Amino acid sequence: MPARAQDLLTDAVVIGAGPVGLFQVFQLGLQGLQAHVIDALPALGGQCAQLYGDKAIYDIPALPTCNGHELVQRLVEQCAPFAPQWHLGQLVSSLARQADGRFEVTTAQGTRLLARTVFIAAGVGAFMPRPLALAGLEPFVGQQIFYAFNTADMLAGRQVVIHGGGETAVAQVIEVASLPAAQRPSSITLHHRRDAFEAPPDMLEQLHSLRQQGQVQVAIGQVTGLDIHPDTQQLRALTLLTPNGQTQQLPVDVLLVKLGLVPRLGPLADWGLALERKQIEVNTATFATSSPGIYAVGDIVTYPGKRKLLVCGFHEATLAAFAAAEYLSGQTLPLEYTSSSTRLQQRLGLLETAYKSAAYQKPTGSLP
Ligand SMILES: Cc1cc2nc3c(=O)[nH]c(=O)nc-3n(C[C@H](O)[C@H](O)[C@H](O)COP(=O)(O)OP(=O)(O)OC[C@H]3O[C@@H](n4cnc5c(N)ncnc54)[C@H](O)[C@@H]3O)c2cc1C
Repeated sequence: MPARAQDLLTDAVVIGAGPVGLFQVFQLGLQGLQAHVIDALPALGGQCAQLYGDKAIYDIPALPTCNGHELVQRLVEQCAPFAPQWHLGQLVSSLARQADGRFEVTTAQGTRLLARTVFIAAGVGAFMPRPLALAGLEPFVGQQIFYAFNTADMLAGRQVVIHGGGETAVAQVIEVASLPAAQRPSSITLHHRRDAFEAPPDMLEQLHSLRQQGQVQVAIGQVTGLDIHPDTQQLRALTLLTPNGQTQQLPVDVLLVKLGLVPRLGPLADWGLALERKQIEVNTATFATSSPGIYAVGDIVTYPGKRKLLVCGFHEATLAAFAAAEYLSGQTLPLEYTSSSTRLQQRLGLLETAYKSAAYQKPTGSLP
């Protein structure tokens, strides 16, 4: 298909903004290649940010300790000189080679990019909200049932029920309870199957105090059904089976489902790449997949000796960037060091900044 005016053209599309996708952007930048990055999540950092943001990591070279959030922040800072274009909250739904050799990458949300190369850094899959398993929900999803809300206005004056027992549910309750008066719901109910919640202590304390002040109610029980208004066909209550065996109707205008995230391999399995047990096979010299111009790095790949560690993903991203630069230029490229190459330092924007700085002392030797 020929390029259309609204197509975004780029050297590389990186699928996945986890730690390895972020480092991929940096390595591509060093090779002079500009990247667009797509992630199904609305935030950067993949597993590091979602699964262990506040936990310490001890095996990053030269960084004796840092937590998941800090590592992500450092990776984002490191790739900033290369001005990646982020497309967050978008699930890559298709990847297809065009007649001219470029790749068409499209998302379920309607973004279309044309790229000369593609880097799949999809980890354990796209992180999607864990769905509420209950028959009959479908017609209400996006109308009265939401996995995330776009605008707080839709909650104003409504009976809001937040469903879940973990950190995301508790965080959502605190966020909704803190809305300005004009956007505040008429009632906020946290619903879970038991009166025990898992979240960091400071969040549990806030929840406790909101309950004490009567700003938040807690409803306990298993959802067994939906109560639908016979005339308007609107969802008006959740039917609960309480721990003492009673049936209770919990009034609801808006239900926010907050059950955490689950990784989904999703459409990646249909992209025609050689897979082994749902992981992408790669050449370990180049991290090329079975399809020329498409590379794969990080937890999504498999090869003899693969370890799902950050440091392994960073190595893979480095070799993949070299390989892609050679694939695009048709030449063998020389190895250059960031510590001594003016070209790399220019790409990093260091020389210009450094010359502007009064404190900068021009080193003797390699810099012009
Ligand atoms: C609890 C825990 C602790 C860990 N601790 C350590 C540690 O101490 N040291 C260490 O080295 N490693 C550790 N790891 C492993 C490390 O986190 C992973 O190796 C690393 O996150 C892999 O990075 P990645 O970028 O390949 O994938 P991910 O971090 O999984 O990121 C992939 C991203 O791709 C996105 N994505 C996937 N498919 C699509 C699609 N179709 N469209 C759009 N987006 C998509 C996902 O939403 C996700 O954000 C730990 C892992 C866990 C779970």
